[in-house]
Amino acid sequence: MRQVVKLLIATSNPGKVREITKILEGLPFEIVSLKNMKGVKSARETGKSFAENARLKATTYFRQTRLLTLSEDSGLQVDCLGGQPGYLSARFAAENASDSENVKKLLSLMRGVRADNRNARFVCAIAIADGRSMWLATGKCEGRIALRSAGHSGFGYDPVFIPEGHSRTFARLGAPVKNQISHRAQALKKARRILERLLEIKPAKDENIRGRSGTTRA
Ligand code: IMP
Repeated sequence: MRQVVKLLIATSNPGKVREITKILEGLPFEIVSLKNMKGVKSARETGKSFAENARLKATTYFRQTRLLTLSEDSGLQVDCLGGQPGYLSARFAAENASDSENVKKLLSLMRGVRADNRNARFVCAIAIADGRSMWLATGKCEGRIALRSAGHSGFGYDPVFIPEGHSRTFARLGAPVKNQISHRAQALKKARRILERLLEIKPAKDENIRGRSGTTRA
C-alpha cells in the first residue's frame, strides 16, 4: 500500500485550503494547514512579488515543521490602478482588513471607471519545498472588475471579479467553475505534477519540470 505523506499547506486562509485540497484530491497526502500547527511563527511577507513571497513562506514553514511544504501567494492586479492591490491584496484597506473592507476600497477607487477600462487579473505563485529543493508554479486568470459586489461563494475579491469569457463574478459562478479556470487552479495543476513526480507516481513528461537541484518554474 502506498505510504501517505504529510503535506503542509502553508496558509491559514480557509478559502485557499479548500481550493488547494480539492485540486490535490486523489494524491496520497495527509493535508495539514497552519491552523493545525501549534507554535509555528508566521512568515513575514517582505517580498516584492508573489513568487518571492511564496518562496519565503515555503522556506520559513519548512524550516519550522520539516514537512513537505506547499505555500502560495496570490492577489489581484487592476490595470487602471497601476497593478494595485497586487502583492498587498490581503492588506489593501488596512493591515488586518476583512475581505469586505478590501472590496469596498477597491470599488470606491474605481468609482466612475468605465466598463471597458476595468481589466484585471488574479495571479498565483505556488512554491514547494522539501528541504533539498524549491519548485515554483505560477498561474494567471484574466478578467474584469464588476461595478458592484455579487455572489457569496469563494473569498477575497471573488464577489467583484468577472473572469474572461463569463458575465458573472467568481462568487456567483461558484467553486466548480472557479476551480477549473482560476489562477490558483492553473498553478495547482502544475504543482500537482511536481508533487506526483516527488511521490514518483509517474515520470515527469513536462520538460519544464526538471531535477531536484535548485528552483524550477513549472
Ligand atoms: P496572501 O495570503 O498574501 O496570498 O493574500 C492573497 C489575497 O489576495 C487574499 O486575501 C485575497 O484578498 C486575494 N485573493 C487571492 N486569491 C484570490 C481568489 O481566488 N479570490 C479572491 N481573492 C483572492
